[in-house]
Amino acid sequence: MNKSEILFSRAQKTIPGGVNSPVRAFKAVGGTPRFIQKADGPYMWDVDGNQYIDYIQSWGPMILGHNNTAVREAVVAAAENGLSYGAPTEAEIIMAELVSDAVPSMEMVRMVNSGTEATMSAIRLARGFTSKNKILKFEGCYHGHADSLLVKAGSGALTLGVPSSPGVPEDFAKHTLTVEFNNLDSVQQAFEEYPDDIACIIVEPVAGNMNCIPPVPGFLEGLRDICDKYNSVLIFDEVMTGFRVSRGGAQARYNVVPDLTCLGKVIGGGMPVGAFGGKREIITHIAPTGPVYQAGTLSGNPIAMAAGLAALTQITADGFFDSIFENTKTLAEGIRSIAHKHGIDMTINYAGSMFGFFFTDVEKVTNYQQAINCNTKQFNQFYHGMLEQGVYLAPASFEAGFVSKVHTPDVIDATLQAADTVFARIEK
Ligand code: PMP
Repeated sequence: MNKSEILFSRAQKTIPGGVNSPVRAFKAVGGTPRFIQKADGPYMWDVDGNQYIDYIQSWGPMILGHNNTAVREAVVAAAENGLSYGAPTEAEIIMAELVSDAVPSMEMVRMVNSGTEATMSAIRLARGFTSKNKILKFEGCYHGHADSLLVKAGSGALTLGVPSSPGVPEDFAKHTLTVEFNNLDSVQQAFEEYPDDIACIIVEPVAGNMNCIPPVPGFLEGLRDICDKYNSVLIFDEVMTGFRVSRGGAQARYNVVPDLTCLGKVIGGGMPVGAFGGKREIITHIAPTGPVYQAGTLSGNPIAMAAGLAALTQITADGFFDSIFENTKTLAEGIRSIAHKHGIDMTINYAGSMFGFFFTDVEKVTNYQQAINCNTKQFNQFYHGMLEQGVYLAPASFEAGFVSKVHTPDVIDATLQAADTVFARIEK
């Protein structure tokens, strides 16, 4: 047994499934998760000394690459002054100002500790603000694990939602309507059915939890119009896309302004952070200025703020995204053309520095059904082949991949060479 195998078997005795977040367990692809020793730049090393080019990046946060010097130094310096005060600090104001400047629709910002907290709080706020009960989400979008968000579509497009996890009461789930991503008609139908009771639409403006699925032209604009028409709050869950698909997130990239925005991942520079914010007239409804309750012992934590600020200062600099977007395109298009060279059906999606590969003969994947119909057997072979070649991709075909600032052309080229070797061996 190698060291990862030994640790995995030990972990399973005291940690459910051996992991603290399920997708790390390699359940979808089989095999043993790699236990990581350290990470630097585009690379991670496991406890057995294997080096990997990392395209997971801690599931999105590490857009500067691992172990960024300025972020590390900011964290160490902040730690010299104590780890947490439970009282306000100037760093929190600078963070809110920085976020607000980059994402102007976030006139006010409340920090939390995870993406889940951000979406859960934004939804409570939307309900409190509108005095409506139902929320509308999209099949295949993930917004963290709050009860009302762990809901899938019932059978038939317009049935009330059903829990997608035990522990979520049907009485909660019935308030969550789930419709098809990139399908405005299904949204319109839901609003016609419940014209006065939908508090908000929550959407990943580029879906990154059913592989990578960008919005089709007109989709986000249509959501904006429908929310305006029915006095419903439009929430963009930009936990993944914020400071990743552009400086101003997906809302800047696609030029559609939501009422509320949720952030996480990149804004923490690798520390546990989330945020939500938006229009002043809505956000002032939360405590202490308003009646909608929301709080957090460690929210706005000084170490997390230091890491986030050091990261965002670099990310918001002019031209930061140019090379990342170019390298993402080279990677995604390169993988597709190598797959085709080896006679493998594949299509790709990418938006900014997010990408996804789909083993399918469908020309363009735009929704969840198409994503789940892809060839998972080929994906699993590809996944394990790449891992053996030293390329660390998400261990499930429903996750977006991420390119960082330090995935330079030579790193992309090494990845493409690995893909060439692996595709040659995949069963057609
Ligand atoms: N929203 C989106 C779009 C996400 O991708 C995630 C996490 N992958 C979340 C919310 C939840 O964030 P967290 O895991 O930090 O709670």
